[in-house]
Amino acid sequence: MKLLEIEALQTFYGKSQALFGVDLAVEEGEAVALMGRNGMGKTTTIRSICHLTPAREGNIKFAGKDITRMRPHRIARLGIGLVPEGRRCFPNLTVEENLLAAARPGKWTLSGVYALFPRLKERRGQYARTLSGGEQQMLAIGRALATNPRLVILDEATEGLAPVIRHDIWRAIRAIRAEGQSILIVDKTLSELLPVADRCVVLEKGRTVWTGAPDVLDAETQQRFLGV
Ligand code: ATP
Repeated sequence: MKLLEIEALQTFYGKSQALFGVDLAVEEGEAVALMGRNGMGKTTTIRSICHLTPAREGNIKFAGKDITRMRPHRIARLGIGLVPEGRRCFPNLTVEENLLAAARPGKWTLSGVYALFPRLKERRGQYARTLSGGEQQMLAIGRALATNPRLVILDEATEGLAPVIRHDIWRAIRAIRAEGQSILIVDKTLSELLPVADRCVVLEKGRTVWTGAPDVLDAETQQRFLGV
């Protein structure tokens, strides 16, 4: 069953058009890697899904419902857990308070999140503002999971982090996948990204230009659209 279905999405920032026709689907239980060079529209696609930068044309369906014009909090409540670029948490709440504030019933419990990120457990009483960048990213992922979303969206979750922290976050992403969690993920580290993805969707200048399994993402396509 299709969990997320996007057709012919067009999004603008004021008069400037960023998306010209994005098509994308995520099946229930699937991990989809949203790819493309800098500025090709990955973050804008994610912002459009969550209605943070609403789409002007096209449509977005989630779990069978049209969410194209739905407000962000209603979209979140329907079951989309966003981990945005820039890892937002409540700075003046502790780690545990941040997680509990997000929590909704389901398979991802507080102890499940702590098992995924033991560092968060060690720092459960610490204010979020005192965490390192990497720990804040773990908390942002933990918060998204604590809402027990049907779909988790990760936008550059490992960007700018130290190698050991990146390693921990990728391990957590693999564990989340092993639980069958549906995810839509943007990340520049292809060597980590491709093994967790069931399918890749490549954007070029605000359009979907390639879709397929990671093992058929050939060198020419990578060179042409991803610059690798
Ligand atoms: P990156 O990997 O650099 O994050 P991206 O693929 O996520 O890139 P977007 O951030 O979605 O790309 O940008 C798509 C286009 O929209 C770019 O041309 C960018 O300059 C433009 N854009 C992004 N944010 C804004 C904004 N707030 N105002 C105006 N234009 C924007």
